[in-house]
Amino acid sequence: MSICMIGGGGFIGSHLCEKLMAETSHKAVVVDVSSEKINHLLGESHPWSSRIEFHHMNIKNDSRLETLIKASDLTINLAAICTPADYNTRPLDTIFSNFIDAIPVIKYCTDNNKRLIHFSTCEVYGKTIGSFLPHEFRKDPKYYMLKEDVSPCIFGPVEKQRWSYACAKQMTDRLIYAEHAENGLKFTIVRPYNWIGPRMDFIPGVDGPCDGVPRVLACFSNNLLRGEPLKLVDGGRSQRTFLYVKDAIEAVLLMIDNPERANGQIFNVGNPDNEVSVKELAELMIQVYAKVASVPASSLSTLDVSSEEFYGKGYDDSDRRIPDMTIITRQLGWKPKTPLNKLLDDTLQYQHQTYSNAIKKVLSKPSN
Ligand code: NAD
Ligand code: UDP
Repeated sequence: MSICMIGGGGFIGSHLCEKLMAETSHKAVVVDVSSEKINHLLGESHPWSSRIEFHHMNIKNDSRLETLIKASDLTINLAAICTPADYNTRPLDTIFSNFIDAIPVIKYCTDNNKRLIHFSTCEVYGKTIGSFLPHEFRKDPKYYMLKEDVSPCIFGPVEKQRWSYACAKQMTDRLIYAEHAENGLKFTIVRPYNWIGPRMDFIPGVDGPCDGVPRVLACFSNNLLRGEPLKLVDGGRSQRTFLYVKDAIEAVLLMIDNPERANGQIFNVGNPDNEVSVKELAELMIQVYAKVASVPASSLSTLDVSSEEFYGKGYDDSDRRIPDMTIITRQLGWKPKTPLNKLLDDTLQYQHQTYSNAIKKVLSKPSN
């Protein structure tokens, strides 16, 4: 199968490319503005070199996109601005990237009768019903469990621009669904729940801008590598379920290889057993990193910061995200495997090996 992977040079795309090259005979036609995270897979020396090609392309303004989609059996759309620090500070780019730029991709798939696997987000559910109820009612799963075919989508007001991403993603989900209903588009929508692992985002000042704010795994990794306190936004009380990206990619491969079971479906893809508050995540990362880097855990700490101070005006948060797994278990028989401790151990070993020398160099430079 030839797979056109738009945004395939990013975090998830890089893991999917690795899996496709190592364990399948599929061909990957990768479209992205950067190949940095997949450079290790490109080049003539690999046994799979004839099965992967990289097209340096911005999908906003490149007429070659339709030709690539037309020539492929399947399109996977991963392209997005998907770091929360951008949602309230670059709301126009966020909305264009997650909605407007996806429109031609969807249209080319419909017009050419091509299958589409589109990456949505668990954030389309927004806040839980429970977050609006008195504490004694919140314990009932029906007030916090997120179900693809049942749960409402609850966003904050328009001036809370945090929701520009979720709202744009949801509009794209609805457009895909409408193309399916009216024009027969064969689609699968994936809703990732905080997939994390090696190569996620960037370390500010090393392989990303000094003032850039990546997602929480990279923020906390950066703090740990520099020996700075881990910053807990509004006390770190929000809860998340974390899924190891390598488990997640197995789910995506099942979708690729089982169109009869995946077409027409929206899948939550997460690990309900790996739920922690952000504060608990920070404490766990401190314990794991102390072992990995052989430093005393007592030298590492956390610091409470307000969301306005950290993200600026217009930030808001999802309180809790627990995926209901009924649909993905029924359709694909997929279950996550890796507990949080193990996935943080693997990931922080990678972060330490990849970045600790670079950080030492940055820290040894005199500041102006
Ligand atoms: P990522 O930022 O690492 O990957 C996105 C890739 O898209 C990047 O390589 C980027 O260069 C590329 N891209 C963006 N705009 C482009 C354009 N105009 N033209 C060409 N390439 C472009 O993010 P990721 O974590 O790999 O996420 C992939 C998808 O999964 C996104 O749609 C994201 O919204 C969704 N998602 C991911 C998570 C997660 O847990 N990682 C959670 C929810 C949703
Ligand atoms: N967060 C934090 N400190 C940081 C970065 C993020 O406390 O340095 C919090 C953020 O406010 C949110 C959670 O961690 O509650 C997860 O943030 P992430 O950026 O990974 O994305 P999200 O899950 O919100 O989409």
